[in-house]
Amino acid sequence: MNDISCTIKTLAQSEWVQAANTAIEINPANAPAVDALRAVAPDAVIEPEHLALLTAKYWGAGGVRLTVGFLDNPPADLRARILLHMNAWGAWCNARFVESSVNPQVRIARLDSPPADAGYWSNLGTDILGVPAGRPTMNLEGFTMNTPDSEFYRVVRHETGHTMGFPHEHMRQEIVNRIDREKAIAYFGATQGWSRQMVISQVLTPLSNSALLATAQADVNSIMCYWLPASIMQDGVAVNGGTDIDAQDARFVSTLYPGPVYPTSIWPNGKVYFFKGNQYMRYDPKTDKVDAGYPASIANNWPGFPANFAAGVDAAVEWPNGKAYFFKGNQYIRYDFVADRVDPGYPALIAGNWPGLWADNLNAGVVWPNGKAYFFKGNQYMRYDIKLDKVDPGYPRAIQGNWPGFPASFASGVDAGVVWNNGKAYFFKGDQYIRYDIAADRVDAGYPLSISGHWPGLWTQDLDA
Ligand SMILES: [Zn+2]
Repeated sequence: MNDISCTIKTLAQSEWVQAANTAIEINPANAPAVDALRAVAPDAVIEPEHLALLTAKYWGAGGVRLTVGFLDNPPADLRARILLHMNAWGAWCNARFVESSVNPQVRIARLDSPPADAGYWSNLGTDILGVPAGRPTMNLEGFTMNTPDSEFYRVVRHETGHTMGFPHEHMRQEIVNRIDREKAIAYFGATQGWSRQMVISQVLTPLSNSALLATAQADVNSIMCYWLPASIMQDGVAVNGGTDIDAQDARFVSTLYPGPVYPTSIWPNGKVYFFKGNQYMRYDPKTDKVDAGYPASIANNWPGFPANFAAGVDAAVEWPNGKAYFFKGNQYIRYDFVADRVDPGYPALIAGNWPGLWADNLNAGVVWPNGKAYFFKGNQYMRYDIKLDKVDPGYPRAIQGNWPGFPASFASGVDAGVVWNNGKAYFFKGDQYIRYDIAADRVDAGYPLSISGHWPGLWTQDLDA
């Protein structure tokens, strides 16, 4: 267990009122319960700074959509790994973090000094917008590619939770009751330079009394339940804290930020890849066009692709485990997003490794936000349960009649499919495509359309994947 503790970074007191105004502007539900306060103490004069402390920091109904930048130029593989873990939240709620070098909203540093800036920390929710430009909003002291993977799960996902507005689960009454007040005040005073009042508000005030939203039960396995040193606990027992987003975290965030969820076909680098023959194209959903320099050959750019895959693939799916799977004939390969290469031990046979799935010659695959993947072959499809790791009972089924709005040409088979980050999936067939609304569970009106003219830079017909 690492002995670096985590703190929620607070803005300078002079910035509190502005930050509270920003929080309410972004999400009116953040407003403090002033009416309730007035009912209790009708004559009280409520200072603006006090109201600021009572203001929540959650992002609004649109979910969490933030750009991320790095202040100390870490290598690309490390940036990708951090982004991957930040976006792990998106499997359960409407949250998406995209790397950007232009005025990034989340700014990550790896400071080890001065003491007040060292360690693991993040500003809370909408407060990040009040951090002066060029200053970090999150610190991951000492993180490199040599840091154990478990620390990326434990620390990066935790700090990202703060960025999303989640306070510390260890401020639950049951846990606060175990903390030795005076030892905690001394400890955080020494390590963080906090005043007595700051320690009381940051560590010793039970969450149920200081936050508007919380889960019903304290959850010591929550990713937001952090390590507390044994030295400040009355019973001398450290709080180990969570090691990953757990089921209760997932349920809570899905109600707080409902809506489109990861996985999508968008890779952790923010791009979507299309394949045709021995070439591929990289599509940027932000600029809504193919990046400059494409198409490019698969063989020279996808490390570890066997020759038969470099000659062309049948289907590709982005799995919610940091891997993409490519299918060709009766084989498949597993590609690691962070290592950016095919994992050792591949290709392998589809048969025996994908229970219930066709053994060869898939046409397309998509991972849906409902925990299922759909695979297509000819005029049929199969629904694959990602958690159970097998095809659901009752498949294959005909596309016709089960995918409302599919034109006959698409019901007879599709070439490729991608899940976008707008609640839509796109299916391609010949020189046409359709847009499928995932929530409405049907093809949108006005489709099919020609690929040409709608997907700038993309091949105009006969995609493979
Ligand atoms: Zn924390």
